[in-house]
Amino acid sequence: MNEIDWANLSFGYMKTDYNVRSYYKDGKWSAPAETTSEQIDIHMAATCLHYGQEAFEGLKAFRGKDGKIRIFRMRDNALRMISSCQGIMMAELPVEVFEETVIKAVKMNERFIPPYGSGASLYIRPLLLGMSPQVGVKPSAEYLFLVFVTPVGPYFKEGFKPTPVAILRGYDRAAPLGTGTIKIGGNYAASLVAGHKAHEMGYSAVLYLDAKEKKYLDECGPANFFGIKNNTYITPLSSSILPSITNRSLMQLAEDMGLKVERRQVAEEELATFEEAGQVGTAAVISPILKVDDIDENKSYVISKDGNAGPISTKLYNKLRAIQLGDEPDTYGWVTVLE
Ligand SMILES: *Cc1c(COP(=O)(O)O)cnc(C)c1O
Repeated sequence: MNEIDWANLSFGYMKTDYNVRSYYKDGKWSAPAETTSEQIDIHMAATCLHYGQEAFEGLKAFRGKDGKIRIFRMRDNALRMISSCQGIMMAELPVEVFEETVIKAVKMNERFIPPYGSGASLYIRPLLLGMSPQVGVKPSAEYLFLVFVTPVGPYFKEGFKPTPVAILRGYDRAAPLGTGTIKIGGNYAASLVAGHKAHEMGYSAVLYLDAKEKKYLDECGPANFFGIKNNTYITPLSSSILPSITNRSLMQLAEDMGLKVERRQVAEEELATFEEAGQVGTAAVISPILKVDDIDENKSYVISKDGNAGPISTKLYNKLRAIQLGDEPDTYGWVTVLE
């Protein structure tokens, strides 16, 4: 293997040695088995291709100063995948199968786990697909669960810098009683046009409003939203937001730091009152927000007056990273240390 330039890795796909797969057939999941193939042999009428029976997860493994490998909140990702299965009628993947497959994929690709101090990590992508051929709209009888991993670089190459986000009123990501709360590819397909438009205009992401009233903040395309004011961590409550595990972790850490935590409806105008705000998810932990522009209404809410990340966002970011790396104690049992 050529030397990997850990510090300059992007967030993209890199081939590793193995991926690990378990098949669901006749009501049973097969023992997870590794393969070196990057291909899937799939029937052209498989339900994942036609009817969107596809769910995924995203989590990370880190190498600590002690050389040990740590996987962050694996069980919570397994539980969220079960709720995705329920949401689009896929066979429920047991937590144990999820965990065994993830651990095997990480261990078998150990040489791709970036060293401590590089800022890089090993991104883990579990994927669940409906495999049976169907032409009528019906859930699949058979499924494939697979986990691949890929090393990803530090998210903030130029430092922990705020970026602008846009509200585009002509697009919804998810409906109030739709599939916004589960992690499925269909939601991402629905966000591609708006995301592309925002990027072309120089924004890092779209901040979606609730689809029904277009009044309250929902979330960003692939990340939850939070704002800080009056020593309070505020994150929107809505029936179309994906429950981010990073957001849940930050709410806990904010409380531990003595902040109040509020999960409630957040009207767009409240953006004018936030001292700090950010997008949160596994990829970046926190990506601070510089300003929010409501393009169609010609309004702009400046969040970061000096262009820098705020003190509370910075503290939360450092604290969560330290737990992930094993630099600080894991008091909530979030971390699985591999032996
Ligand atoms: C995955 C995802 C997030 C972030 O969730 P984490 O568990 O923190 O990685 C936020 N929003 C959407 C729509 C997602 O798919």
